[in-house]
Parts: sequence; C-alpha cells; structure tokens
Amino acid sequence: MKTSAYLTYPEFMRRYFAQRVQKISVNPGFSCPNRDGKISVGGCTFCNNSSFSPDYCLQGDSITEQVKKGLQFFAHKPDYKQFIVYFQSFSNTYAPVDVLQKYYNEALSIEGVVGLSIGTRPDCVPQEVLELLADLSKKHFILLELGVESTHNDTLQRINRGHDFETSVDAICRAHNMGILTAAHLIIGLPGEDRSKILESADKMAHLPIDMLKLHQLQIIKNTAMAKQFLADPSSIPLFSCDEYIDLCIDIMERLNPNICIERFVSQSPDTWRIAPNWQLKNYEFVHRLEARIKERGAFQGRLFQI
Ligand code: SF4
Repeated sequence: MKTSAYLTYPEFMRRYFAQRVQKISVNPGFSCPNRDGKISVGGCTFCNNSSFSPDYCLQGDSITEQVKKGLQFFAHKPDYKQFIVYFQSFSNTYAPVDVLQKYYNEALSIEGVVGLSIGTRPDCVPQEVLELLADLSKKHFILLELGVESTHNDTLQRINRGHDFETSVDAICRAHNMGILTAAHLIIGLPGEDRSKILESADKMAHLPIDMLKLHQLQIIKNTAMAKQFLADPSSIPLFSCDEYIDLCIDIMERLNPNICIERFVSQSPDTWRIAPNWQLKNYEFVHRLEARIKERGAFQGRLFQI
C-alpha cells in the first residue's frame, strides 16, 4: 500500500523484498562510447565520473573485492542483510555480451547479493544485451538504469550527449517489452531548459513504460566542459535555488504516472568536486524540506497525470 504522496524507493522495493536492501556501487572498468572516440572523446559536458563514484570502487579491484569493501563501508548499517550491486561508473553494458555476463554473474554469486542495478546509455543496449538481462531477470532482481538526461534534442546536442531522445524511447520500450525493469535518469536544469521545458519532459516521461525515475539537479562539477563555461560566465547557466527546485520537483511529481517509483529527487556530489549550487543541505535534509512543502501544497503523485 502506498503511504506517502509519491511512490518512494523503499515502497517500490517492498514489492520485491521483505527486508530492506542496500545498494553497493562497483566500477567494472568499462568505458563509454562518448569518451573513447566511438561517438566522441569529450564526453557529456557535465560529466566527471570521479565525482559520483564512491572511493571504495577501485577500478583495478575485482567485483568481489569491491563489494567486500562496500560491505565494510556500510558496516555501520547492520540491519541490511541483502544487497543490490550497482554497476554505476561509465556505461555498464558497453562490452561484449560474454564479458558482461561474467561480471554480472560474479556479482550475483556473492553471498547476500539479491540483484543488480545496471547504469548505462540508451544507445548501449543492443538486442543481445537485453536478452541477457531478460534472462537474468527470470531469477534475480535486475534494474536497467538508462541515462536519458533530457527529452529535448537541442539540449542533448548542447551537452554533447551523443544520442537523441528517440534513442531513449526506443531503448525503454524494447527493455520493457522484454520484461526488464527500467529506470530513467533525468537532470533538471540543464542549460537552455526553463520551467516549461522541464515540465514538458515530465509529461513525456510520464507516458513511457518506465518503472522508476531518478532526478537530480544540475550540478557544476570541477574539470568538466560545463565548469569551464560556468566559470567564464556564470549567467550562461542559470541554476535553481533550493526552494525553486523543490517546487519544480513537486510539479514534476504531480505529472507522473503514480505507478512510476521516484527513486530520488536530489544528488549531491562531494564539496571537493562541486562548484555550484551550494545549497548546504544533506540529502535527507532536502527530502524533509521537500516533504514539508508537499504537505503544504496538498500535492501528490499523479494529480496532473493525464492518460
Ligand atoms: S555521463 Fe555517462 S555517457 Fe556521458 S560521458 Fe559520462 S560516462 Fe559517458
């Protein structure tokens, strides 16, 4: 039964697991076609993978070693006995299918691991990869996380994403039709996107067969192309204040199909990496503020969803 104004990650996961599960990130060392020259060498203008890879994910370590280090990192949470291995860094379906199978099977064979979350680009999910994921999904919890980032092709071009929105729609529909749980990532506040464009994106995502949506505010991260642009002219990339962003998150939530889990609204890269925005809030403090504002507005997921 849904108990909050939106379908939260813990509520969604209770459909699959009686106990709470903890995510542990790994970095198998795959590359990304937007960095290795297949599409481009520059990468997305906002991207600096180091800023969102936990310190315990050392690329040279095996998956088993990284998971062990992750378990030590989360040792202060003894209540968690089941784990989802999160293939997080770069594009985690960007390798021959037999190589992927070896890595995924290694992760699934570790004691306590009950499933995988696999982050990748929408243009890196050929049929044979989806067949592998569909096959694993018969016995395990498998979530394919696709970086959609924007539904506007002019934005995708501006951030050098290297694929268009149609590619995301195609990947989402193919995965869904094969019975694979699918999440989409969106970045809120990309250059050139005002409130109306962002809400247009919410309406488009609301009608796609995704199981989960992960949102986060645009962050300007050191050593990225976007940081160069921002530092040269901060007014070229307007950023939302925390309160503006909270209201926008609620507007998005109200447009979404109530069956879509909203895994997160916010993400904070470490201070050492982030140039802006500096909201001085921990993620849980943000969520408290968001929930207070949801209550104040009497808002709920799906209120403005139109079939
Ligand atoms: S955000 Fe993802 S797709 Fe873009 S350059 Fe970074 S790793 Fe590659």
